[in-house]
Amino acid sequence: MEKKGLLIVVSGFAGSGKGTLMKRLVEDYEGYALSVSMTTRKPRPGEVHGREYFFVSKEEFEQKIETGGLIEYASYVENYYGTPRDYVEEQMAAGKDVILEIEIQGALKVKERFPESVLIYVLPPSVKELYRRLKNRGTETEDVIRKRMSRAAEESGVIERYDYIVINDEVEGSVRRLHNLIEAAHDTPGRNEEFIRNIRDDLEQLWKGEN
Ligand code: 5GP
Repeated sequence: MEKKGLLIVVSGFAGSGKGTLMKRLVEDYEGYALSVSMTTRKPRPGEVHGREYFFVSKEEFEQKIETGGLIEYASYVENYYGTPRDYVEEQMAAGKDVILEIEIQGALKVKERFPESVLIYVLPPSVKELYRRLKNRGTETEDVIRKRMSRAAEESGVIERYDYIVINDEVEGSVRRLHNLIEAAHDTPGRNEEFIRNIRDDLEQLWKGEN
């Protein structure tokens, strides 16, 4: 039976290591496609248009909203971020599981619109470790680190609305667990309604034939 692609939505605090996990997931396993978002924020050093993001103007972004070209979008720290529709639909139709690495407002909108999507929240093993990771990046001041940690406290309020959590203690094991739980998500009754209906119909036909 052809496996249908799922929409996999991944969120997590800054410093949870979700970006590294996603990168490793698509490198280590087949069958995944990583969606590239559109944003109005400026590129950071080293970021490439079309790889990390499609960097666009506010006008271009608003145009995309109007023409229905985004499956979700959100405003985050004074910039727009959104998921282009075409790539997601093409890849899912080709049987790929499409990964969206997006913040919580967008994630919850996706779940509302596509109830069969799988929402995963990546967490650090502890707050002490989160602080250590943010500090080790070496790019942020103590003030920025504090802001990020206070945002994490706010964001943590919605974790229960996600389907799964992945505690990112070390990359190898976390990527494997992430892949395993996506595999398991494919096999829930709710994501296999057509198959189950067909089995039932066939059984009914057989029953009728015998009586
Ligand atoms: P950054 O500016 O650090 O790259 O991303 C800021 C936040 O925006 C992150 O939490 C990231 O996951 C989220 N984000 C990136 N792309 C999208 C998107 O297409 N939609 C939504 N809703 N959030 C996104």
